[in-house]
Formats: sequence, structure tokens, C-alpha cells
Amino acid sequence: MNRTVNYAFFKDKFVPIEAANVNIKTHAFMYGTAIFEGIRGYWNPSKHEMYVFRLKEHIARMFDNMKLLYFESKYSQDEVYEIIVDLLKKNLPKTDTYIRPCAYSSALSIGPGLMDNPSDICIFTVPFGDYYNNAALKVQVSAWRRVEDNAIPSRGKIIGAYANTALAKTDAVRAGFDECIMLTESGHVAEGSAMNVFLVKGGKLITPASTDNILEGITLGTVVEIAREQFGIETISRSVDRSELYLADEVFFCGTGAQIVAIGEVDRRPVGDGKAGPITTKIRDTYIDICRGNIPQYYKWLTPVYGSTNGKTDGSFVSNVAISATSVS
Ligand code: PMP
Repeated sequence: MNRTVNYAFFKDKFVPIEAANVNIKTHAFMYGTAIFEGIRGYWNPSKHEMYVFRLKEHIARMFDNMKLLYFESKYSQDEVYEIIVDLLKKNLPKTDTYIRPCAYSSALSIGPGLMDNPSDICIFTVPFGDYYNNAALKVQVSAWRRVEDNAIPSRGKIIGAYANTALAKTDAVRAGFDECIMLTESGHVAEGSAMNVFLVKGGKLITPASTDNILEGITLGTVVEIAREQFGIETISRSVDRSELYLADEVFFCGTGAQIVAIGEVDRRPVGDGKAGPITTKIRDTYIDICRGNIPQYYKWLTPVYGSTNGKTDGSFVSNVAISATSVS
């Protein structure tokens, strides 16, 4: 195998990324009819291991998302799991890595309907360090409202909906902020551009309700568990008003890409003293330690790519993917 080649999974095979191109008539490209996942692999240099964080949960969400667009997968969840692990083994990254699986409507026909459309899965990996350079972000409450569940299901990672995200993020950055927070049509806090939001008030965590047009983040669920199990901090999930952001003791974002990052300012108002607060800091440090494989209690969330079989299912299937993969490598 040529280790200088970066492979993608495309049309049922592992191919060099340069060969993983879609036809411009592809339905997903024309109408945004695709879904994706964002997954992180953490490189642990002392263990010489790559840990993929909560891979099973990401794949389960991916399959839920496919359901929203009527996609029928030709692969099982276990097979997608194996394909991702095999792709990483082919690319052999020795740095933090982002894994991007996508399921897309692959028809070449005109018209937005999804009635009889075939769908396909593609996956690529890229090196990925920290998403932000600053320790505490300056955030703007966006004038753009977060897409409503009755417009495009907000609990799905539906690619077309990210045009909404793109507008909010771009306008915030152009106005001199690092990030945006989007509200629902009824004016409650939903989330950031690609991250969920938490407030700390009186020693408790508060996060917007799952019915307030949020994407139900895997990191969000992880934060709730870490806070409770490691620090005895409970999370309240409810509708959150905009002005609560201004008066919170701490505010932070969480998401696979963003990881956990403090918010130091909202709409030019400092949050607390404008720096990462103590609760944000301890949750963030524990989260990173877990992801990097330094806390055995949470090995259950990690898939070690190069070493043991921790986290896998029985691994008994032999997919035709593996066979076609050998033939192209
Ligand atoms: N909201 C949106 C719109 C996102 O794209 C993401 C990133 N997947 C998140 C929240 C955070 O979700 P997760 O923690 O599962 O990465």
C-alpha cells in the first residue's frame, strides 16, 4: 500500500481522494439532499494509538438522519463502523483527525422529490487540530434564526440546512465576532453554528431543550454525563432566553469540531470576567483527557484504531467492501 495516498471511501471502494468526485447532476449537489456526520479521532502519541470518539453513537445518528431523507443504506451500522476503521488504517494518520461520512441522494435526475432516488455513502478523513485559536470566544446573537424543525428537521445533520448556518457564521465573523448563537423563531436560544451551548448559573448547567430546534449533540450528552459523574453537577434542559446569556456566570460551546470552548463575550457584554470560568475549564480538561484515552472509566466511548478491539461489535461479518478495497489499494 502506498502510504502517501490519502484514501476516501466512495462508491463502495477505497479510492485516492482525488478520484472521489461526484457528477454535477447529482441530486444532493443540486438540492442539498444529503446528511453527514462529523467525528473526531484523537491521536495519543505515548500510546501510539488513534482513538475515535463515540463512533457507534455517530453512526447511529447517521442512520437516524438517513431515515429523515428516506435513504435506505446498503450497509449495516456495523459495516459502516468497520469501513471507517479500515479507512483510518489505510490512511494511518498520526495526528488528530476529522472523519466525515456523508450519505447522499445520488440520482442524476431533475426535480427535488426523493421518491425512488438511490443513495450512496462516502467518507473521507482530514487532519484536524483545534477549531478556534482563542481561549474565550466573542459571540454575536445572530439576526438569522435557526432553521425550524418544521422547515428542515433541525435534529438532523441535513446538508441543505447548513446554508442557514453559513449565513449566520459568515455575518458574525464579518462583524468582528468569532461565532454566532442562533435563536428559534420564537426567540429562544438554540445553538451555535455547529455546536451546542451551555450556561452555568448558580453552580448548575442549563442547556436549551431538545425541542428548541437544536441538533442533539453527542458532545452535549457527553458533557451532561461528565458533569454529573465527575463533578456532581446537574444539567437543566429547558428553553433559554437571550438575556440569560448576558447574565450567566459562564457560557460555553460544545461539539465534535469545537470540542469545549468558553464564551467570553455575548453581544459585546462580558460573560463573568470574560475568561474561561472554573466549571467550563474542568469539564473541558476532563473531556479532552477522555477523548485522548487517558481515563480508563470512559474507554467504553473510544474505538482504538490500531490496537485492541475495544468498542467493536463481534466483527464477524466479512464485507464485500473489504474485498474491493484490497483490489484498489
Ligand atoms: N449543532 C450543529 C448544527 C452541528 O452541526 C453540530 C456538530 N455535529 C453540533 C450542534 C454538535 O453536535 P456533536 O456534539 O454531535 O458534534
